[in-house]
Amino acid sequence: MQEARGSGTTGAAGIMAGYPDAADKGSMRRNNLGLVLRLLRESGEQSRTRIAAVAGLPKATVSVLVTELIQRGLAREGELDRAGAVGRPHRMVTLDGRWVCGVGAELGVDHITVLAVDLSGTVVHERRRGIDLPELSPQETLHEVAEMVRACLREIGARGMSAAGVTLVTQGEVDAGSGTVLVATNFGWRDVPAAAELRARLGPAAPPVLLANDAESGALAEYLRAAADDVRELVYVTGGIGVGGASLSGGKLLRGSEIGHMHVDRRERPCACGRTGCWETAVGLQAFLDAAADRTDRVHDRSVDLAQRLDELLARADRGEPRTLAALALIADDLALGLGILVDVLNPPRIVLGGYFAVFGRYLVDAVQRVLDERRIRPTAERVVVAASTLGLSNAAQGGAYLTLEGIFLDPTSAPERRVDAGA
Ligand SMILES: [Zn+2]
Repeated sequence: MQEARGSGTTGAAGIMAGYPDAADKGSMRRNNLGLVLRLLRESGEQSRTRIAAVAGLPKATVSVLVTELIQRGLAREGELDRAGAVGRPHRMVTLDGRWVCGVGAELGVDHITVLAVDLSGTVVHERRRGIDLPELSPQETLHEVAEMVRACLREIGARGMSAAGVTLVTQGEVDAGSGTVLVATNFGWRDVPAAAELRARLGPAAPPVLLANDAESGALAEYLRAAADDVRELVYVTGGIGVGGASLSGGKLLRGSEIGHMHVDRRERPCACGRTGCWETAVGLQAFLDAAADRTDRVHDRSVDLAQRLDELLARADRGEPRTLAALALIADDLALGLGILVDVLNPPRIVLGGYFAVFGRYLVDAVQRVLDERRIRPTAERVVVAASTLGLSNAAQGGAYLTLEGIFLDPTSAPERRVDAGA
């Protein structure tokens, strides 16, 4: 289950919280620094003239802001600006921040993924470990997470980088404010103060620990990726043991929702939430595995990493193995059924499929797109475009890492002190 309700805002989650109003000169300067930094993230290398035009700020102001960002190590001079330059050519400005990173630690039913991304979005550390989470107590699980996060912090520290924070990404309904997992049905967790427990295990020198829901984190990672293509609105649907979703518009999380528990399946199979006929009983990972292979098949073996098991099934599909293909056709039908409802309610320009749906993108995307195209009421209505995530199974962990960096994009003066030995 990946219910994403009520976990949208945290202090550091600028993109989730929206941008603050300018209250005074100091905060206006911080806002403008953040505005320029976000422009560099979304649009890549820019000239000062172009930044001024897009941000609606005087060029002299932009020059001062860029100088400060460079001094703080968050931006650097790039290539010479040769377009339309009169007189002495200026250098373009590009996002830097290779010395500061965010850490995302994602808990799944059968794995822990810990990774770090730097300010420019490059993954600089990634480890994945298989676990059987329902067999462990929350404390045992968080002990494992802490071990992996400590190893990550040691490694990035040894490379001269600082961590702005750690986001623990879990399934279920989370209260980001108190860092509590309220209920995660597939974990068997209820009211677990996970952020505080992880923080305690990391020790006093550790950076702040946030908590986020995996569908929302995945949506954030997809949004930041799509923003480069000028897509400002999307719905993200992720398939795992649970099915979660969240929608983002203009950089703001509109809502995460319990879409996995929409009642769409007439077979009325029992769901872990206690009801029957939920969407995830039809399109969740377990439904797919059950349709594709007998329980004795190795693709059901949770001691084997999920990525490997999915690769095995993808290979079978690519060989034309009939049962796997039939299972995928079944999933595509039920996926389109639920997505059709989301399109009717939210009318998004783009739907991004994550989790195992993305692994089987070439078998699911076209089939789902066809159904959604056919059921448009008006042929002239804007067409929703379905795409598979290209960020891989770790996109929720990546989103968690980005969340810890959002505070810097909102207020660049909040970045940790740059270490003198940091690589430039
Ligand atoms: Zn349910």
